[in-house]
Amino acid sequence: MAYSDRVLMGPGPSNPYPEAMAAFARPVLGHLDPEFLALLDETNERLRAVWQTGNSLTFPISATGSAGMEAAFCNFVEPGDTVVVGVNGVFGSRMCDVAARCGAEVVAVNEEWGRAIDPQRLLDAHPSPKIIAVVHAETSTGVRNDIAPLGRHTGDALLLVDCVTSLGGIEVAADDWGIDIAYSGTQKCLGVPPGLAPLTVSERALEALVERPQSWYLDLNMIRAYVAGEGARAYHHTAPISMLYALHAGLGAVLEEGLPNAWARHQACGDELHTRLPELGFELWAQEGHRLPQLTTVTLPDGFDDAAGRRCLLERYGIEVGGGLGPVAGKVWRIGAMGHTARPRNAEMLLGALEELVKA
Ligand code: PLP
Repeated sequence: MAYSDRVLMGPGPSNPYPEAMAAFARPVLGHLDPEFLALLDETNERLRAVWQTGNSLTFPISATGSAGMEAAFCNFVEPGDTVVVGVNGVFGSRMCDVAARCGAEVVAVNEEWGRAIDPQRLLDAHPSPKIIAVVHAETSTGVRNDIAPLGRHTGDALLLVDCVTSLGGIEVAADDWGIDIAYSGTQKCLGVPPGLAPLTVSERALEALVERPQSWYLDLNMIRAYVAGEGARAYHHTAPISMLYALHAGLGAVLEEGLPNAWARHQACGDELHTRLPELGFELWAQEGHRLPQLTTVTLPDGFDDAAGRRCLLERYGIEVGGGLGPVAGKVWRIGAMGHTARPRNAEMLLGALEELVKA
């Protein structure tokens, strides 16, 4: 099957919105061309709408979600700072690694994979951390960690949230939830190809900005003048112009649909999968009440071969789903319905294909 026909229902990139793909065809402008800078400003404005924030420092880092994570830590953590990190999957672990490389004393709050982290445990983990960090939507497990109960209760600690798999798919209310630093990726529920990391930073966090972070490229003190349009616009790096066109267009599609409508579409698709997959013998794995609609995790029916099943889905039906990671490799599947992929027809197609596979 031609790869142009693929339905991307894994935890990685989703199918981009057609508007985002069409934007790649636009002629490339110079990175200091006033027309491009106007588009960049409008992109930042659209990002504020999607993050539900008034934060002036809101812009896409020119690199993937992991660079968003690096920027979020390296600009606010100095050697010796205490950072509390919730860990219930791969991306919480990655946060620990990144924070430790910045010299942080990391206090990990571990929870079993597949279960959500109790927000109170994060608040109680240390009397005076500099940062409390948590992943909103754990892509390795399909679990939603609650953020709203943390905000406003973190005292002087900054609240840092990974929204790579949540932004655009479920509610993220950066200001109302008291989030200080958050990053995302373009490739999941925002429905844009991978390559940019939307970042937002509260005014309170800006006061804690490290003067000279270890990373030159991700140093917000310098980058903000160019990408975030603060002060005189000067070259910092050559912005990935075409990716920014795509993000601008993808955000346009999301906002035109309306954020609540986009969330409802993801929810409806997730509900369909959550209801019907168990009927085919694929049991829901993530903790009830914390299941992500945009990323469904299931255990496999007895005797069902993980690798052969995924290969058949890909080769015969053109549908990509993801396998399990770490302790659940070979036992769990991760089924995405994100961004443009979150449509009833895609859920139906996958369920139909699986029905054939389990009967075979
Ligand atoms: N955080 C989460 C929750 C993710 O799911 C991912 C990627 O899947 C990342 C961070 C890293 O993003 P990227 O792969 O774009 O660097």
